Amino acid sequence: MPDTALSIRGLVIRYGAVEAVRGVDLDVPQGHVVALLGANGAGKTSTLRAISGLSPVAAGSISYEGRDITHLDAEKVTRLGIAQSPEGRQVFADLTVEENLRTGAFTVRSKAQVASSFDRCYRYFPRLAERRSQLAYTLSGGELQMLAIARALMASPRLLLLDEPSLGLAPLVVQDIFRILAEIRAEGTTVLIVEQNALQTLKIADYAYVLATGRNHLEGPAADLIQDHALVEAYLGSG
Ligand code: ATP
Repeated sequence: MPDTALSIRGLVIRYGAVEAVRGVDLDVPQGHVVALLGANGAGKTSTLRAISGLSPVAAGSISYEGRDITHLDAEKVTRLGIAQSPEGRQVFADLTVEENLRTGAFTVRSKAQVASSFDRCYRYFPRLAERRSQLAYTLSGGELQMLAIARALMASPRLLLLDEPSLGLAPLVVQDIFRILAEIRAEGTTVLIVEQNALQTLKIADYAYVLATGRNHLEGPAADLIQDHALVEAYLGSG
């Protein structure tokens, strides 16, 4: 078994009176792709944001490479090698593609490493290379999503957190995004991915957790879950 990169135990997240996450347990082994699935409002985004230091943790623990990061702020989490590509393509609309990418490398001091991250991003996403001088607000939905993922990659993360990378995209663009995620996985980056598009996600994942109303509902190797068509339809959506 590979070492555990990320381990979550008994995670509870509250927003005032709303208990969004009610005791979630989750492990992500080094070099694996783990999917976090479930219906709208199941607590997936809250869990991801808690790892990044962006959701308030009421109880439970989050550890990364053996270190407790439960209450670490977002910048410190990034410096430890964790980067999140947010839902909704939250990029800087008035910056160019290249400027947006540069903001993703704010924790990286070495110019050589920043240059090699640019090369890697432009290799994964040639469309972004073509549009490097364009302002982000002029990009299509698919290109914005690519930019959000690429910006997270600029930090050279050892753990990449992806929130709904296929949300609202045309099927061909979705194929493109999943092809690139498979490449990122092949390069050995550990990935935790939140997705509604369950079938596509299970194809690139090693293991999956399904959350329901803030709790662990079921889990298993992705190869097993994908075989269980009744389960896929009932719990995971047709993707
Ligand atoms: P989705 O796919 O819709 O994003 P999700 O599984 O990611 O769903 P969360 O976004 O984590 O679920 O939301 C879990 C619950 O917490 C929902 O009931 C949601 O309305 C609530 N919630 C999320 N963020 C906040 C917030 N900032 N303030 C109050 N309630 C919130």
